Amino acid sequence: GEFVEVLIVDDFLDSAIITQASLIAMDSDLTVHTAESAAEALQHLNVDHRESGTSDTDLILMDIDMPEIDGVEACQIIKGDERFKDIPIIMVTSFDDIGYLKDAFAAGAMDYVTKPINDIELDARVRSALSLKAESDARKVAYKKLEAESLAKTQILSTVSHELRTPLTSIMGYIDMLVTRREVVGSLTPREEEYLQFVSEESHRLKALIDDLLDVTKLEAGKFKLIPTEIEVKPLIEQVIFSLQNQADEKRISVKLKVPSTLPKATADRLRLSQVVTNLLSNALNYSDHGATVTITGRVCDGFLQFNVADTGTGISDADQENVFSKFFRADNSSTRIVPGIGLGLFITKLLVEALGGRTSVKSKLGKGSTFSFTLPLALPEPIQ
Ligand code: ADP
Repeated sequence: GEFVEVLIVDDFLDSAIITQASLIAMDSDLTVHTAESAAEALQHLNVDHRESGTSDTDLILMDIDMPEIDGVEACQIIKGDERFKDIPIIMVTSFDDIGYLKDAFAAGAMDYVTKPINDIELDARVRSALSLKAESDARKVAYKKLEAESLAKTQILSTVSHELRTPLTSIMGYIDMLVTRREVVGSLTPREEEYLQFVSEESHRLKALIDDLLDVTKLEAGKFKLIPTEIEVKPLIEQVIFSLQNQADEKRISVKLKVPSTLPKATADRLRLSQVVTNLLSNALNYSDHGATVTITGRVCDGFLQFNVADTGTGISDADQENVFSKFFRADNSSTRIVPGIGLGLFITKLLVEALGGRTSVKSKLGKGSTFSFTLPLALPEPIQ
């Protein structure tokens, strides 16, 4: 029920018309155009494409022996054009030109028929070429649809996260007032204090989740602004440790930083690098037992800076190690049932480190602990004035 268009390219109008007649006799739904030269054929394809935005031609029957641009060359031009390369080409050749067929196939021709054209042969070749074309068109449509759906999902996620953030910001503002503006709010009972503390912590967790979702949509859409500067990483890590000190203290975990003060500077985005270190350290704290030790080391390795965050916690099985950096992945074990999360932290970490020009990796043994590593490019030495 669809329109199928065939283009016959032949410098002998007589033979083009005979072929056209056989094709229409074979299938009256076919629309058959003719062109008397390769140049005219290319013009037809161009106009066709300009008018509909896609190529309407489903098949080309190309005479090999033509003056100026011959069939082989025309085939090369069409197959070299992104817009037309998927149109199957059947070469039409007389017995004398059979030697050119090898070149025609090398140029991307799909099949051939010999002159004088036998109707049954033409019918068989044209049908098989058209059905292959229809299959590949269908595949392409299905792929485009999938792509569009995935883009739509990302957009929904992005819109929803944005919309969630607005009321949350206002909620957190009021919580902050309750916590800090006692002179306005009046005094609270110890139980109210306790509940308020809980509400405040939970709102921060919700904000972190929404921020992660937003980061993912931005990273996947490639809309991520990085401002690389020269950074001394050790003080940055010290800051991150300081900001997570409460979390460490709650479990009496001691965080050791073993980075030489002489470590060269890195090139990185300050905010995003903090985010990477925060994610890794926060995981190490979350997945460690009470009283454990987390050790952060840094050194130069193979022309990069390399940092390791090592814990002695639950560890990750070999099978799960392959997936920990995947979107929404969480290991299925007792510790992930206790630790809240949606499995975006390491996915974001990996994309961020790669955007900064480095790599992430993990080494772990179940029940023994994990070491997460990432690399960063060294800051270039100052140019000599
Ligand atoms: P989340 O912590 O929100 O689940 P992440 O992407 O940060 O998401 O981590 C993915 C999964 O990898 C976690 O659910 C956990 O199973 C595992 N994991 C990450 N870091 C560690 C670690 N230091 N020790 C043990 N398991 C870890």
